[in-house]
Amino acid sequence: MEEDNLQRQWSLKDFEIGKPLGRGKFGRVYVAREVKSKYVVALKIIFKEQIEKYRLHHQLGREMEIQSNLHHPNILRLYGWFHDPERVFLILEYAHNGELYKELRKRGHLTEMQAATYILSLTEALAYCHEKHVIHRDIKPENLLLDHEGRLKIADFGWSVQSRGKRHTMCGTLDYLAPEMVENKAHDYAVDNWTLGILCYEFLYGVPPFEAESQADTFKRIMKVDLSFPATPIVSLEAKNLISRLLVKDSSRRLSLQKIMEHPWIIKNANPMGSCT
Ligand code: ATP
Ligand code: MG
Repeated sequence: MEEDNLQRQWSLKDFEIGKPLGRGKFGRVYVAREVKSKYVVALKIIFKEQIEKYRLHHQLGREMEIQSNLHHPNILRLYGWFHDPERVFLILEYAHNGELYKELRKRGHLTEMQAATYILSLTEALAYCHEKHVIHRDIKPENLLLDHEGRLKIADFGWSVQSRGKRHTMCGTLDYLAPEMVENKAHDYAVDNWTLGILCYEFLYGVPPFEAESQADTFKRIMKVDLSFPATPIVSLEAKNLISRLLVKDSSRRLSLQKIMEHPWIIKNANPMGSCT
C-alpha cells in the first residue's frame, strides 16, 4: 500500500476477498487484493456485535491506534480500517508463510540459527515498541507470523498498552506470563524481556519451560522459576545462558534488550537480515 493512500476512505468494494487465513476469538482473517493496485493484504473482519457483547471497543480502538503508528520491518503493518453497520475491517500486511507456531509444531523444534534469528528480530521490534512506550504483553508463537521471505512479524496488538509508568492488569495466556504478571503486581517493559526467554526456550526445545498438567502447577513453576534444560535436543551452553539470564524473577535484573542483541549466542547464530528459510 502506498503511503499516500493510507489516509483515504476504504470500503469493501475496494477489495477482492480470497481464502480464509485463520480465525481468532473475535476476528476472521482473509487474504484480499486491493482492486486498483492489485496489492495483496490480509483483511481482518470483526463483528461489532461481538465487540459490544464483550465491551471491547476501547481495546480495539487502542489496538488500531497503536498498531497503525508502528512502522518496523518485524511488526505487522496495519494500513487502515473501515466499517459497515455490522463489521469492522482491518487492512493488514499479508504474512504469506503464516504462523510461526505451525512451523514450530511441524519441525518439533528450531535450529539455533533459526531461533537466534527470530529472537534478534523480536528483540529489535520490542526495542522499537519500548522506545514508543508500547508494551505488547501477548507475545506468543500464535501471534508471530512469517512473511514470504521467512521474516518474523509481530501481530495482534490486542493486549498491548501505551505506557509511561507501571501497569496493573491481568491478561494473556499463563504459560508466557512473567511472575509479576501472574501475581498481578505492577509491571513494566521487562515483561516482554521475560517472554523472550520463554520463547527462546520454546523455539529450541519445542515446549515452553513451565508447562504443567494444570494452570495452578504452571503458576507454581513460574513463581519458583522452576527452570530445567532437557538432555535432548542438544542445545548450546550460550543459548542456555541467554535463557537463564532472561527468566529471572526480579524484573530489574533481566538482561536488557540491548544486551540481548550483544549476547554471544545471538552474535554467533542470528542472521541480521532476519530471514531464515
Ligand atoms: P486472538 O485474539 O485469539 O489471538 P485474533 O482475533 O486477534 O485472535 P489474529 O490473531 O489477528 O486474530 O488472527 C487469527 C489468525 O489469522 C492468526 O493466528 C493467523 O493464523 C491468521 N492471520 C492473521 N493475520 C494475518 C496476516 N496478516 N497474514 C496472514 N495470516 C494472518
Ligand atoms: Mg491471535
